Amino acid sequence: MQKIENYIGGELVAAVSGGCLDNFEPATGHVYSLIPDSDAADVENAVAAAKAAFPGWSSTPAEERFTILMRLVSLIERDLDSLALAESIDNGKTLAIAKRLDIPRAASNFRFYATAAMHTANESHDTTGQALNYTLRQPLGVAGCISPWNLPLYLFTWKIAPAIAAGCTVVAKPSEVTPMTAYLFSKLSIEAGLPPGVLNVVHGLGPKVGSAIVGHKDIKAISFTGGTKTGEEIARTAAPMFKKLSLELGGKNPNIIFADCNYEQALAETRRAAFANQGEICLCGSRIFVERPIYEKFKKDFVADVSRLKVGDPLADGTDVGAIVSKQHFDKIMSYIELAKEEGGTILCGGNPLDLAAVKAETRPVGSVSETRQLGGWYIQPTVIEGLSHDCRTNQEEIFGPVATIMPFDTEEEVLGYANSVRYGLSSTIWTENLSRAHRIAADIESGIVWVNCWLLRDLRTPFGGVKESGVGREGGFEALRFFSEEKNVCIRL
Ligand code: NDP
Repeated sequence: MQKIENYIGGELVAAVSGGCLDNFEPATGHVYSLIPDSDAADVENAVAAAKAAFPGWSSTPAEERFTILMRLVSLIERDLDSLALAESIDNGKTLAIAKRLDIPRAASNFRFYATAAMHTANESHDTTGQALNYTLRQPLGVAGCISPWNLPLYLFTWKIAPAIAAGCTVVAKPSEVTPMTAYLFSKLSIEAGLPPGVLNVVHGLGPKVGSAIVGHKDIKAISFTGGTKTGEEIARTAAPMFKKLSLELGGKNPNIIFADCNYEQALAETRRAAFANQGEICLCGSRIFVERPIYEKFKKDFVADVSRLKVGDPLADGTDVGAIVSKQHFDKIMSYIELAKEEGGTILCGGNPLDLAAVKAETRPVGSVSETRQLGGWYIQPTVIEGLSHDCRTNQEEIFGPVATIMPFDTEEEVLGYANSVRYGLSSTIWTENLSRAHRIAADIESGIVWVNCWLLRDLRTPFGGVKESGVGREGGFEALRFFSEEKNVCIRL
């Protein structure tokens, strides 16, 4: 069985303890590879390697850093098909979305920050007649990057690309649920000639490896994406150590549809926003609010559309919704569907797990041979629920699966109240042809990102992040490069 390895000081190595954890394929429910069960000893080695590499890497000219990072872009693009296949097998997401979204975005992350590093400039302030101030922006040292399982390589690279481009060295931990593409990426880093120790990847459990990274005295900053509860724990350790913190956390995003919207567009994108990647995207629009005059029609058309989504083998052509990432997450989603019923919700479609054990799946390539699989993994029918109040638990807590609720509203003020009633504030979507209304709501809605007449339309230059319990700080653009550097003002008397 394939054994994933840590990447420390430029070498692929087993965990110091020699222990391993099982890695499951969500489509089949079977263990298909083993992960190093690393701990504080491995983190210690990784930090030592990162510290040793820092003086050299931080003083490497931007153009040389750019060249190495662009080599990584070429290698990701060269291996797009095999990386997408690995991501789909590891996560349960469809091969189509891995090919279209995850892996291209990993390449874009590196391309974006490789070029950004070539275009950073420092400010100077002329204190008339007295002094000249200039600001030095210096890489802050060893950075810790911790990423989740839902968009594994996409979010892993979204953190390490700006860190490395800024001149930091990195100790990174991908989610232990989806470690495969970070491992393949370690191999690409060796092939690209990234100097040993610039990037170190330690696999293993959050409470062991993640917390050792967060609590390590020589790690100057933590960039974390994951759940709000984990974010809280991280802040509790890191804040008293005065570490820089970027926290990208959970969401419970509203999708507001006014009667004057472009109906067909709103319908298609609402389905995508709720169920793309099995609903396992922090930006998914899981609370759908529809203005009363079109509510019944929209509901009927939406449910008909959602019922047509094909759930099945992530590797097969034509699958819309793949497998849920783990048994644990499957149980959590199913418990919320039960809760919704207890809270008085009516299931309009879905609501059940899907047993595909009897279905013979497509063969998948394993090394040079092919293997036929039995789909005994974790599948849930895309589920739409109506009849719940905006303040019940189903509508307040993050489910992070193929489950959306739908409800009518009458006024702008009322729907804004519903939208803002949650403790989260990551993203929101508004569908209307009334520009004044779009501006009004965009200004008043409590979220870090507002999409008007679109969803998940991303420009990497824009600030990305949440308000309230969805996070602290912004990623994206020059903001991320600034996060991984420290500013120093130099004042020279004239
Ligand atoms: P978790 O918070 O469970 O885990 C995220 C990462 O943190 C994993 O690598 C995990 O390791 C690690 N971790 C767990 N416990 C600790 C700890 N005590 N100290 C340090 N690290 C730890 O989130 P999920 O992986 O379940 O991801 C889903 C969540 O991520 C959702 O809430 C979603 O909304 C959010 N998310 C937010 C995004 C945003 O941009 N705002 C984007 C994508 C997802 P391990 O896996 O081994 O437990």
